[in-house]
Amino acid sequence: MKNYIVRVISDQANVIGLACVTTGLVNESCRLHGAYPTACAALGRALTGGALMASLLKMGQRLALKFEGNGPLKKIIVEADYEGNIRGFVAVPEVDLPPRNGKFDVAGAVGTEGVLTVIKDTGRKELYNGVVRLRTGEIAEDIAFYFAESEQIPTAVALGVYMEPSLEISAAGGFLVQSLPPSDENMIDRLIDNIRRLPSYTQMLRAGQAPESILNAIFSGISYVTLERHELCYLCTCSRERIERVLVSLGREELADMIAKQGRADVTCEFCRRIYPFNRQALEKILSEMHA
Ligand SMILES: [Zn+2]
Repeated sequence: MKNYIVRVISDQANVIGLACVTTGLVNESCRLHGAYPTACAALGRALTGGALMASLLKMGQRLALKFEGNGPLKKIIVEADYEGNIRGFVAVPEVDLPPRNGKFDVAGAVGTEGVLTVIKDTGRKELYNGVVRLRTGEIAEDIAFYFAESEQIPTAVALGVYMEPSLEISAAGGFLVQSLPPSDENMIDRLIDNIRRLPSYTQMLRAGQAPESILNAIFSGISYVTLERHELCYLCTCSRERIERVLVSLGREELADMIAKQGRADVTCEFCRRIYPFNRQALEKILSEMHA
């Protein structure tokens, strides 16, 4: 099944529902980063959460999620845009913890103390910046808590990554349902009731259910229309020019020091692990073009 997302809206009131499948892109990112199982589950949930949140934006807009907790994973960064391009990484991909209650111990890896920062680039001069404390470190609850606290929008989020004993991820995806004002209490009760009856998201995917049929179950008894369906993909937007800008941001002193001591630099893109080599000549050129 291709990676894709579906967006629906209720006919009455303003309930938005999103559901996606991200199995392929989560597999790809975990392979790129050499992520161990627990780190892979955490990254997969965060990438899926980013994909869901970005599709609430408008054309041309993008967002970044930054989970910084007191767990061994240290930090997860995800960037996603409305068009469905997603990339991300974890600071320490070698984290692997014993399962807790038969599930990945993502909270143990991320940590239960820390913050989630959401940065939105809506095309305005100023970036939107929302920060909340981590709720559980399980990712889905933290995103739901962010919407409740920072945007005052009641939101339900479920994210899942299912890994086979062979370490292949056979299912990944999630849903997000939110009620924009003015809200209808009866409809919210109905949605909560419908969501409570659902098996886990990966269980539904593994049973062959597509995002469309999962949304149908979530909206059972509520009429809705499908607004959109589009593909999601893991795409890194790094380039040599962007990496050069990172070198420039180090400052003249540090760059001159690097040239003197190492004579070269291999800069790795954190999002896709691609290595950009810079020899002495290239570094000296960057230095000479920098403002004093
Ligand atoms: Zn890259």
